[in-house]
Amino acid sequence: MAIKSFIPPQRTLMGPGPSDVSPRVLAALARPTIGHLDPAFVGMMDEMKQLLQYAFKTKNELTFPVSAPGSAGMETCFVNLLEPGDKVIVCQNGVFGGRMKENVERCGGVAVMVEDAWGTVVDPNKVEQALKAHPDAKVLAFVHAETSTGVQSDAKTLTELAHKHDCLVIVDAVTSLGGTPLEVDAWNIDAIYSGTQKCLSAPPGLSPVSFNERAATVIKNRKSKVQSWFMDLNLVMGYWGTGAKRAYHHTAPINNLYGLHESLVILQEEGLENAWARHAFHHRALKAGLEAMGLRLLVKESDRLPQLNAVVIPDGVDDAAVRTRLLKEFNLEIGAGLGSLAGKVWRIGLMGHACSAKNVEYCLQSLEQVLADTGVIKKGVAVAAAQSVHKSVV
Ligand SMILES: *Cc1c(COP(=O)(O)O)cnc(C)c1O
Repeated sequence: MAIKSFIPPQRTLMGPGPSDVSPRVLAALARPTIGHLDPAFVGMMDEMKQLLQYAFKTKNELTFPVSAPGSAGMETCFVNLLEPGDKVIVCQNGVFGGRMKENVERCGGVAVMVEDAWGTVVDPNKVEQALKAHPDAKVLAFVHAETSTGVQSDAKTLTELAHKHDCLVIVDAVTSLGGTPLEVDAWNIDAIYSGTQKCLSAPPGLSPVSFNERAATVIKNRKSKVQSWFMDLNLVMGYWGTGAKRAYHHTAPINNLYGLHESLVILQEEGLENAWARHAFHHRALKAGLEAMGLRLLVKESDRLPQLNAVVIPDGVDDAAVRTRLLKEFNLEIGAGLGSLAGKVWRIGLMGHACSAKNVEYCLQSLEQVLADTGVIKKGVAVAAAQSVHKSVV
């Protein structure tokens, strides 16, 4: 039998990413493919840089989307800034700090780990102790928004500490960009990477990155070649750099870039600060609904990430069965716990286009129906609790 075209089901994506992609972005993806050196495309690339500078709140020249997902943005930062033997202080309070350690070691560097419990923030005191104990460290690396736990660390304070001890910072902003306050220039962040499928609500496959002058100088003055040909910024910039004549490096993922461009245009129309406020607002409504139902959030209130809510699974409830029913009966995707939180939490994302009153209420309603027979929740109150938050701001 001949295989037919693939038609995906219509889901509501409220997990840790990808998030729902807006119809405007989907329409942009379907526009005709043109050449990657076509003057019209090159004009779009110049706009892309401006739009990313807007989203990151930076004037950094070296700002562009790496042609691969968030993990490749992470790798781009590490392979370009590190040389064999370099020491990096890596903060770990969830899954992604562990990947940073892998990156450091694969670059021939030495990772000094600063560990905090999953579900808590990166502790600036521990970081300061590590910086004092390792005056030869070159970089401090940390995750701003830990998607595996729903925790937001204090990127501004951590960056200040690093600079006080003459270290560069590498910041993972995959889940924070577009969802929660992030100011690359005001906080003086040296190197940062993000992803498109979280709060920017574009499809996965691109990783916006930005490097300040200080980081760019370190890269220019390297003694050894960057170990990755594909991610070597000295080469990539022949294509993404402005002013200079663009030269072929690799074929840009043209249509995916149309999609990111459109999602950033949408962000600009809404206003970055308004997007941050929208994520905080719907987080409050979701939280009110979950708590009214009798469910509890994992993370302490002051440390919570609005766009990723880790919900403690009540005793006696079958984690996977609930998620399967949500998907099958409600076409709703929420995330499972990872690592030490597997089976202990659900992760409900409120990211980008998926962060709306409609989705908050749909999620609460669906969860309530699936949990109705378990006896662990209070019925009939969650949606009203969320609505009262939604009505509070007119
Ligand atoms: C999703 C995510 C990544 C990885 O991004 P991919 O696009 O899946 O490669 C890295 N860091 C954080 C914090 C993330 O949430």
